[in-house]
Amino acid sequence: MRTPIIAGNWKMYKNVGEAVETARKLEERVQDSPVEVVICAPFTNLPALSALGLTKVKLGAQNMYFEDQGAFTGEIAPGMLLDVGCEYVILGHSERRQIFKEDDELINKKVLKALNVGLKPILCVGETLEERRAGRTEEVVVAQTTRALAGAAAEQLTNLVIAYEPVWAIGTGENCDAEDANQVIARIRQTLAELYTADLAQQVRIQYGGSVKPANIKEFMEQPEIDGALVGGASLDVDSFTSIIRY
Ligand code: PEP
Repeated sequence: MRTPIIAGNWKMYKNVGEAVETARKLEERVQDSPVEVVICAPFTNLPALSALGLTKVKLGAQNMYFEDQGAFTGEIAPGMLLDVGCEYVILGHSERRQIFKEDDELINKKVLKALNVGLKPILCVGETLEERRAGRTEEVVVAQTTRALAGAAAEQLTNLVIAYEPVWAIGTGENCDAEDANQVIARIRQTLAELYTADLAQQVRIQYGGSVKPANIKEFMEQPEIDGALVGGASLDVDSFTSIIRY
């Protein structure tokens, strides 16, 4: 059985005070949840969130560079994330791919580095509206998954989480149909089976992300292949994120 994982992507929102207040309330409200709960907060919030000593809510970052240290102005090293209590790191988010021009080769280096240092990547894959309309959804997610994982060892795979996030569904209020998402996620799992083994593929958790909210989370979680959600906008408010976690 795969433990469901629901992660909040706070993007570039919340100053330290707001982050601490939200995380404290969330920790109290989801104590008894069987779901693994993660907050992926802006870098500047992470030391304060780590100092709260949360036990139920785990911490993640939204990006990292693949080098240990050096002259990489503006970047954050994997060891720095571990130092401030991160267990997870989102990699390959569509906003990174589209706005910051991250390609599969760079994402692959980051995924390998994260796995090698013991950070758990939440690898985002997903098609654009144009690709969906052209019937290329599965081709796109298979290629993104395959390229991102090139060189990753089988024994590291259980630390990997994949988020299927159709680009057109992110922040638009227009979510993917749950059965459609289930089918795409099944295709991603099949890709893992082809790259590794069927047994390993069954162990990897694959989330859906894209306009998840309290009103639609249940539909997604009822699907057999969907193991959780990556939630942007609706994770910023503690009431709505709690409702999602308590689906
Ligand atoms: C995201 O940022 O990963 C995301 C899914 O955003 P939203 O839930 O706002 O669509």
